[in-house]
Parts: sequence; C-alpha cells; structure tokens
Amino acid sequence: MKILFYDTKPYDKETFEYLLPDFPGISIDFLKTDVSPKTATLARGYDAICAFVSSNLGKDTLDVLHECNIKLLLMRCAGFNNIDLETAKKYGITILRVPGYSPEAVAEHAIAMALAVNRHLHKSYIKVRENNFSLVGLMGFNFFKKTAGIIGTGKIGAAMAKLCHGFGMKVLAYDVYKNPDLDFVTYVELDELLASSDLISLHCPLMDSTYHLINKDTIEKMKDGVILINTSRGGLIKTEDLILGIRARKFFGVGLDVYEEETPNVFEDRSDEILEHSVTARLLSFPNVIITSHQGFFTLEALEAIADTTLSNAKSYETGSLISGNIVNP
Ligand code: NAD
Repeated sequence: MKILFYDTKPYDKETFEYLLPDFPGISIDFLKTDVSPKTATLARGYDAICAFVSSNLGKDTLDVLHECNIKLLLMRCAGFNNIDLETAKKYGITILRVPGYSPEAVAEHAIAMALAVNRHLHKSYIKVRENNFSLVGLMGFNFFKKTAGIIGTGKIGAAMAKLCHGFGMKVLAYDVYKNPDLDFVTYVELDELLASSDLISLHCPLMDSTYHLINKDTIEKMKDGVILINTSRGGLIKTEDLILGIRARKFFGVGLDVYEEETPNVFEDRSDEILEHSVTARLLSFPNVIITSHQGFFTLEALEAIADTTLSNAKSYETGSLISGNIVNP
C-alpha cells in the first residue's frame, strides 16, 4: 500500500519511519503541505492519504481525492469534525482514526500546567535568569488536602483524577456517566463541583451541550482563588467571560492548552507575525495565565502509539480486518 502523508512535521516522519519496518508492504511519501482541494491532486497513484485533525477534508477536497481514486483516509488523530462525512460516504471512502493514544500524556500536561500556575514557574524561570532571586509574587498553595474537580471522567479525566488523588487531594467529579473504576472519586452535580473545588480541570468533549460550559454564570459559582485548567477543547470556555473573571480576581491561575482562537496557531511558528484582533494576546497579558499550544498529547509514547495505530489501520484495510473502534464511518 502506498500512502501519501500530508502536513508532515519532523516528529511525525521520525516516529512513522521508526515503525514502518514492522509493516512490510506499506510505503509512505511525506509532504510538508497539508491537504486541500489544490494539493489533493498529488494523491493520484496512491492507495491512501494520511491527514490530521486540522486538515481541510471538506467536500471540495474529497471531490478531488475521489477523482484520484483514493478509497482510504487514515486520520492520525482522534477527532474527525473536519471531514465531510456525507461526501466521504457517497464516494465509498473508508475513514480510520486513532481513538486513543495516551490519556496519561494529556493528564500529565494538565497537572504540569496546574503546578506551573500555582507555583508561578513561568515567572520564576524568567526572574532567576535575570538574577532576581526575590520570592515576592511567587507564593503558591499546597494541593495536598485541597479539592480537585474533574469535569468529564473518561480516559483522560480518569488519569487526571488518579494524579490528583496521588497528590493527596479530595477528588470530586461531574460526568453524565460515572466511571466505575474511580472508587476514590465523589460524583457531584456541576454546581457543587464548581463551588467546592480549588482546582478545576476540564476533560469532557466539545459538543452542543458542553459549548461554553465555563461562562459568566459558572465562573461566578466557582470558589475565589480557584485554578482552572483546560486541556480539552477551547470552545468549552467562553473566553470573553473568562477574561472578565480574571479581571475580577476570581482565579489564582488559569492554564490553557487549548483556547477558542487556536486554529490558525496550532503547531505553527507565527513568531514574526502581528496577531490582530486577538483575545489570546489579552489572555497572555495576565500574569496568572499560562497558555501552551495544544501540546497535551505530545509525548514520545503518544506519538509512537499514533503511528502504530495508523499503520495497523492501513494493514487492517489491506487484509479486510478493520478494527471496529477505529472506523469513523462504518
Ligand atoms: P473520553 O470520551 O474517554 O471521555 C470524555 C468524558 O466526558 C466521558 O466520560 C463522557 O461521559 C464525558 N462527558 C460527555 N458529556 C459531558 C458533559 N456534558 N459533562 C461532563 N462530562 C461529559 O475522552 P478522552 O479521551 O478522555 O478525551 C477528552 C477530551 O480531551 C477530548 O474530547 C479532546 O477534546 C481532548 N483531548 C485533548 C488533547 C490535547 O492534546 N490537549 C489530546 C487528546 C484529547
């Protein structure tokens, strides 16, 4: 099977090439450019393309891929909201994805952000580099014996709950389903979680029912001095309301690996650009906010798991033994 790999970053090439010898008969050509109606024509002569969560896989691109006789779309990610599923179905294009790769990677990043904003690591790193050894402005608080509130206790939320438990925190959770594996967690209503938690971490998916879950009303219900962490999806938080809450001194700290305006920024170096109309810039102006660039998943273990599942998906297509949980459009 010949695969054309779009939007290649150096770390993608490294991990896929490392595992490729385990998948004889599969070859990959790596392209830096992402897939779009224009670049989809390059797929002629290939059996499959490999794309990412930010790739343009709307109708126009799928039209071209169909003309190029592409029958398999390998998504090296969990999300697929960027694909026009109706059009893919019409053309009989099979879409396979990587539903989970390393929940611990994202949970560990959420904890890293929580600790960093709590102990002001982003400030102390800069201060000490400038020979400023003063502790003024760096005081944090112990997580030990405080309360963590986990919203969404699926794979990542469960891993986060375990880490918080390990810190000696009382762990509250809110989810539409209770995770039976988490016997140390107390499930409560959302309002109680908001009112009782010193650390709130978001781990539910973005859906109509969770869009802007964190807004003026829910922020008002939180404890003063709370730490809020979002490693899930930007749209869970209404950014304008978050900014109002930060200005009202509601938060001890805020850590965002994802945010509403992130799409043009994700994994791109825009350091030479002037970002206009940016609420992200406003968020970055606050001393108690840390933003990272959707890097929660970005560990060696997670990248290897993504490459392994993607290549296994390609092999399963060839052998006619698709892995049911990885099929987007059964
Ligand atoms: P999952 O499907 O295992 O868990 C999601 C949980 O959210 C489920 O338990 C579900 O019942 C719960 N849920 C659904 N609706 C809810 C609601 N209205 N309120 C509260 N809980 C609700 O998913 P996961 O693998 O744990 O991933 C969670 C999210 O993490 C993903 O949706 C994705 O947005 C995000 N993510 C981020 C990164 C990153 O790099 N930052 C990487 C992977 C995933």
